[in-house]
This record gives sequence, C-alpha cells and structure tokens, in this order.
Amino acid sequence: MPTTPALSLPAKGAPFTLTAIERRPLRANDVRIDIAFCGICHTDLHFGHDDWGGTFFPLVPGHEITGVVREVGEAVTAFAPGDRVGVGCMVGSCGKCAPCAAGEEQYCVEGFVKTYSARDHDGSVTQGGYSRSIVVAEHFVLRIPDALELDGAAPLLCAGVTVYSPLRRLRTGAGMRVGVLGMGGLGHLGVKIAAVMGAEVTLLGRSPEKRDDALAFGAARFVDTRDNGQLAGLTGYFDLLLNTVPAPLDLDAWLGLLGLGGTLVNVGAPADPVASYNTFSLLAARRGIVGSSIGGIRETQETLDFCARHGITAEIERIPAARVPQAWENLSDARYRYVIDIATLGTP
Ligand code: NAP
Ligand code: ZN
Ligand code: ZN
Repeated sequence: MPTTPALSLPAKGAPFTLTAIERRPLRANDVRIDIAFCGICHTDLHFGHDDWGGTFFPLVPGHEITGVVREVGEAVTAFAPGDRVGVGCMVGSCGKCAPCAAGEEQYCVEGFVKTYSARDHDGSVTQGGYSRSIVVAEHFVLRIPDALELDGAAPLLCAGVTVYSPLRRLRTGAGMRVGVLGMGGLGHLGVKIAAVMGAEVTLLGRSPEKRDDALAFGAARFVDTRDNGQLAGLTGYFDLLLNTVPAPLDLDAWLGLLGLGGTLVNVGAPADPVASYNTFSLLAARRGIVGSSIGGIRETQETLDFCARHGITAEIERIPAARVPQAWENLSDARYRYVIDIATLGTP
C-alpha cells in the first residue's frame, strides 16, 4: 500500500505526531492529488476533541484541501495530471438515494463518507488533508478556477460552500438584510458572499477589533453582541441571520431580531447541540429556524466559480505544519483562516 506523511492525532488528548499513513492504490475512478494547502476548520477541532463523540483515532483531520493532480485511474475523464483541484468534506456517498440523485450528497440517506474520521465503503477509515497526498473518487474532486490561488481557495471547500448554500437557498439579494453571527472562517466568508449577492450585511460579533475588517469585507455595520442596547435597536430588523458561532445561543433573543417571515440559519455546530426556544418567538412573526450542512458537489463547484467571478477568496494566514498545534490552541486568533502549507510537512 502506498504511504504518505501526515499529521495525526493518535488518541483523544494526545499531541499531533508526524506519521506515515496508507493511501489506497488507484482504482479506475480515482484521482491521486499532491496536496498543496489545507485549511484548519473549527470542525477539525470538534473531531480532535471528540466533541460530538464517535471520532475514529488515530485521526488525520483536514477537509479544506487544494493541490494538483498527480495521477488518474483509467476510467477518469474529468481530470488529468497537472490540474488544479480541491477536496472538501465528502469523499463518498451511496450515489443512489434521492438526495444523491439530486446532487445533494451531503444529505445522503446512508450518510455521506466524510473526508476524515469515517468508515469508507471498503471498510477503511478515511484520513484527511493534513497530509502530503490523498486518493479520492473523481466525483468528489472539485476544479479550482484559474483566477483563484490554491491557498486562499482552500477554505472555500468547506467554510465557503457552507455559507454559500443557505444564502443561495434563501435567495439572498438586493433589499435583504442579512446578519452574520460570529466572524471566524465561516463568518468572514458569509459577510463577503452575502455582500456580493447584494444584501445589506451586519456583522454581529463579540470582537470589536474585527470591526474594520468586517466593513472591508462588505458589511454595512458591526454590532457588538455584548451590547444589549445596540441589539435591542435591531429588534425585528433582519430577514436572515446566519449563525456561525460554535457555542449555544439564546435562541429567543436572536429570533427577536428577525422581522416578519425571517429565518435563523444554524451552521455553527456547538459541542452541546441541544437548544430550546419559545414557540411564540416563531409564530409571532412567522419566523423559522433551519439548519444547513455544507453543500453538494455541484454546489461546491458553483461556490468556487462564483467566488472566482467575484474575486473572493478567504483571508488566510499561511502556517507551516509545525505550527498546527499552536494554531489549534488559539484558533480564534486566526485572521480569518489558518491554512497549512503542506510543502513544510516533513517526512517521518
Ligand atoms: P471559527 O473560525 O473558530 O469562528 C467562530 C467564530 O464564532 C469566532 O471567530 C467568534 O467570532 C465567534 N464566537 C462566538 N462565541 C464563540 C465561542 N464561545 N467560541 C468560539 N467562537 C465564538 O470557526 P469556523 O471554522 O468558522 O466554524 C464555526 C462553526 O461552524 C463550528 O462549530 C464548525 O464546526 C461549524 N461548521 C459547520 C458546518 C456545517 O456544515 N454546518 C461546516 C463547517 C463548520 P467573533 O469574534 O466575531 O464573535
Ligand atoms: Zn469544515
Ligand atoms: Zn445517497
């Protein structure tokens, strides 16, 4: 079995180790990718800390992967060696159920195969992009448009599509008032994408030092979420609230900021997912609460193409592999996404 260097967490709470992991020999439909960059998503930390239970250790995280095709299987038609490509959160799905047929593999009734910490169809456990190379079936490989740099494009594969999908679905456009809660990896792309779609965007966060950046990314205003007076002034104001915060929210308070028919979209995924709300917070103004999980393969390509057309990439801090443990310790210091330069990954 071919092997590749990777940063692995041997067990919950254990430090990262540089190790060699196996990547399967190419099947007919497989693409082998030399990884150039991998973003650090907050979800990587949720898995590393086993916040949601069920993490497979040893764990190689990473699902914001960009690189260059090294080799393709004999039946691959869409990619050739040298192509600039990406891999996001999914590397497989059943391919037969209604969501899969509709191109929404993220809602596969059997559960999609996650890029890491998942049991693949052949029984192996998937390992992610904090590694030198990866083998993925061509259906789950994305094309990186020429206009996008491979480093700044990496976070579009998860963070980007995760905010693009609900913004599109809820018809974000001119005349809409969108509030983005939290400005980290997802939130800053939410601000950029919603603004380019034509919405009036408000960044609602707990970090006033991010105000100028929020405005530069296209927000019309910044609101400090610890300032109850400012929040009260926004009662009934928003059409859409995009919640990217990885911690529980006071749902009734936030629902109160939505106007008639407004929607609170949860993409943030707290360790404790149980939340409650007062039904009257919904029916008083026909409000809705929805959740949204990443995006399908077609929509991920659409996100990349949309961002290329509008000149959007993530704001990133490129870090060497040796800095990954420190980045995990201080993820909220990122402005606004740490991206690992995989060329700096040593050999075990
Ligand atoms: P991130 O880069 O760490 O950003 C989270 C932001 O939330 C922070 O920058 C901060 O912004 C705000 N925040 C408020 N309270 C916080 C708290 N108690 N702890 C940490 N941050 C807090 O995270 P991310 O990568 O954007 O991911 C955000 C969440 O989305 C995570 O739970 C992740 O697992 C989830 N996620 C979901 C999907 C999906 O498919 N639904 C996909 C990817 C990620 P301010 O300083 O502006 O307040
Ligand atoms: Zn992610
Ligand atoms: Zn399916």
